[in-house]
Amino acid sequence: MAGARGERGPGPAAGEPQPQQPDACRVFPERPAQGKPPQGGLLSRFFPSDQKCQLMLLKTLETNPYVKLLLDAMEHSGCAVNRERHFSCEDCSGNVSGGFDASASQIVLCQNNIRNQAHMSRVVTHELIHAFDHCRAHVDWFTNVRHLACSEVRAANLSGDCSLVNEIFRLHFGLKQHHQTCVRDRAILSILAVRNISKEVARKAVDEVFESCFNDHEPFGRIPHNKTYARYAHRDFQNRDRYYSNI
Ligand SMILES: [Zn+2]
Repeated sequence: MAGARGERGPGPAAGEPQPQQPDACRVFPERPAQGKPPQGGLLSRFFPSDQKCQLMLLKTLETNPYVKLLLDAMEHSGCAVNRERHFSCEDCSGNVSGGFDASASQIVLCQNNIRNQAHMSRVVTHELIHAFDHCRAHVDWFTNVRHLACSEVRAANLSGDCSLVNEIFRLHFGLKQHHQTCVRDRAILSILAVRNISKEVARKAVDEVFESCFNDHEPFGRIPHNKTYARYAHRDFQNRDRYYSNI
């Protein structure tokens, strides 16, 4: 997807490869430079898939503990998220699930590929981690592949993308290192979906940043392996906020 660079300006690709069928998220060169206006709301043309996407998004934003924590953290960092402005349900090509468009500050949700509520929650969580990284630091998404690699490692590690697989593998094979292997592999796949580089170059970028980025658990403070962990992390984040505000 390197060709998208000149057309759209900076915009990271945010990937959510699926465990069974690796698909990825990418920059969307077919989108207008500023992104399409968000669909939905009163002016929506009520395409059924769009309406379904909007309803699933609403439920995810209101109930998913990973997402609630990330929304709080974004607000705390001065990047409050607005559903109408910052999310866009669209049809996407290939098997892309979603993406983070930094130039338009929008998360794209691929309504034709998001299969169910759990899938929606994983995609929104993954993309919000990219948005959080974009908010808290100057991320050089396009010219520094290590910056992209770091955010993809964090998104794969913290979004639960690897936790489901992890559970299955732990049951079947007892591989303690499987989570790390999964995070590494998915980060490489996500980079390859948006950069016209070799697998070796992508792997090298991931290797170079892996230790520090794998151990950067912000804003969760831990690896949230399931919703219970995510709820604890959210509670701790809210308390942390409280302590800071009393200083
Ligand atoms: Zn990603």
